[in-house]
Amino acid sequence: MKYYILFGPPGAGKGTQATAMAEKYNLCHISTGELLRAEIHAGTELGKQAAALINDGKLVPDSVVEGMIASRFASVKGVDGFLLDGFPRTLEQAEALDELLDEDAEMVTSVISIMIPDGMIVERIQGRAAKEGRADDASLDTIRHRIETYHSQTEPLIAYYKARGKYKEVDGTGTIGQVRDAIFSLM
Ligand code: AMP
Repeated sequence: MKYYILFGPPGAGKGTQATAMAEKYNLCHISTGELLRAEIHAGTELGKQAAALINDGKLVPDSVVEGMIASRFASVKGVDGFLLDGFPRTLEQAEALDELLDEDAEMVTSVISIMIPDGMIVERIQGRAAKEGRADDASLDTIRHRIETYHSQTEPLIAYYKARGKYKEVDGTGTIGQVRDAIFSLM
C-alpha cells in the first residue's frame, strides 16, 4: 500500500490537488479538516468541541485526528493506498502515524509539500471563503492564527521527514495544472 502525505500551509491548494491525485493513483483521500467539518455539520459532541478550536485557528487534540485516521485505515478497502491531506500536523501525530503503519509493516511512501509564501496564504484563503463558505476562512484573525499555528507546530515536520528521506517539495504558486504536473512527476 502507498501512504502519501500532502503537506503545506493553509491555502496552498492541498484539497484541490488531492482530488486529482486520488483519482489518478486509486488512493483514498482522507482530509482530517473535512472529517471535522462533517462532524460539525452533523452537530455531534465532537463537532461542537472541534468548532470552537477550528474557528480560533487552533488545532484539535492529536488523539481526535489520530483516531479518525486509524479508523479509516482499518475500514477502507479496494484502494492502492491512502492520501493524507492535513494530517499529520504535529510531531506527535507524525510519530503516531509511524507507529500505526509499523504495526502493519507499512511506512510513509513520501511527503509531497506544496509551498507558497505567507503573503499568498491570506489572498488564497480569502478567495476560497466566498466559494466554500468555511467559517474558519471568513475571519482575518483566524487566518493569521492558522498561519502562526502552521509555522510553530506543523513546519517542524519538514525536518522530521527530510531526516527520513521522505520529503519532496513543489512550488505551489503556479496554476492548478502546473502544480498538479509537478506533483505527478514526484509520485
Ligand atoms: P484544513 O481543512 O486541513 O485546513 O483543517 C481545518 C481545521 O481543522 C484546522 O485549522 C484545524 O483546526 C483542524 N484540523 C484539521 N486537521 C487537523 C490535524 N491533523 N490536527 C489538528 N487539527 C486539525
